[in-house]
Amino acid sequence: MSVLTRRDFLIRTGGCAAHLAAASAVLPPALRERWTRPTLGTVVAAEPFGRLEAVGPGVWALVSTPLGGDFTTVSNGGIVAGRNGVLAIEGFMQPAGAKWLAEQAKALTGRFPTHVVLTHYHSDHVNGVAGYFEAGATPAVRTTATTRDWAVQKNQPEPARNGRLGAAEVVDPATESVLDLGGTKVRLLPKAGHTASDVALVVEEPHVVFGGDLLWNGMFPNFVDCVPTLFEKSIRSLRHDRDPIYVPGHGPLARNADLDRYLAMLGEIERAARASRDKGQTAAEGAAGYAIPASLGQWTLFTPKFLETAFVAWHRELGAK
Ligand SMILES: [Zn+2]
Repeated sequence: MSVLTRRDFLIRTGGCAAHLAAASAVLPPALRERWTRPTLGTVVAAEPFGRLEAVGPGVWALVSTPLGGDFTTVSNGGIVAGRNGVLAIEGFMQPAGAKWLAEQAKALTGRFPTHVVLTHYHSDHVNGVAGYFEAGATPAVRTTATTRDWAVQKNQPEPARNGRLGAAEVVDPATESVLDLGGTKVRLLPKAGHTASDVALVVEEPHVVFGGDLLWNGMFPNFVDCVPTLFEKSIRSLRHDRDPIYVPGHGPLARNADLDRYLAMLGEIERAARASRDKGQTAAEGAAGYAIPASLGQWTLFTPKFLETAFVAWHRELGAK
């Protein structure tokens, strides 16, 4: 396992990941604990950077715990195994993260991942994808054309990582597709809102939803590329009355009660952002005078800037008053 220095990390990463580095320095232990305790699954492997939880037959979720300062994976992800294939979800921050997940897949299922799906282009979800190949796996990598192109253009990965992305199989952005692993089917749902490149994954049995960064639990989402109304629409489209296990992009595993709290929090942000715009305030002014009500639970806010980014996204979408 190699861990970047904080300075390297801040230079080399974008999106939400950079804020995690700042957060690990300032979060009180109680908050870190809240985000790192096991929740819904059974822990089958644990490392400083995250833990792998069995959540049903043939399905495991990686819950990353970067707040201690280990940025090997940063984002959550997972493994889904069928009779004929094994899917790994996400490429993670560093190749060591993907390599580790490939080795876990081999230990748990008897084979390396045959497929990899990347949920969006942000660096903490794609930059380590070459690690699967370093482990000895030769998976087919699937994602949207937007993720493939933006990861290469906007992220700062090393050339070898770009090569793995350039060869990716493209998910049709207009319609749902199905990955049949043999006895286990995974639906790939093209979405938008967190970025224009989002894909969510749904396993029907056991019922598990991998939401990428459309879903967050216990920590405040990254609005940097967000179109807030699309974001909320996509989140609502993933909610199911059967109360599946949701694997968010960041934070512990969730159920409908967690998802509803998340939606309530986002609704409150919308209300505050609209109010600030109606008063003629800038996004920065609106965010400066705002705090998430305690009744909506704990949402780890890394810096005041993170909240401001949400207000900026709302003001951008609403347009000039
Ligand atoms: Zn992320």
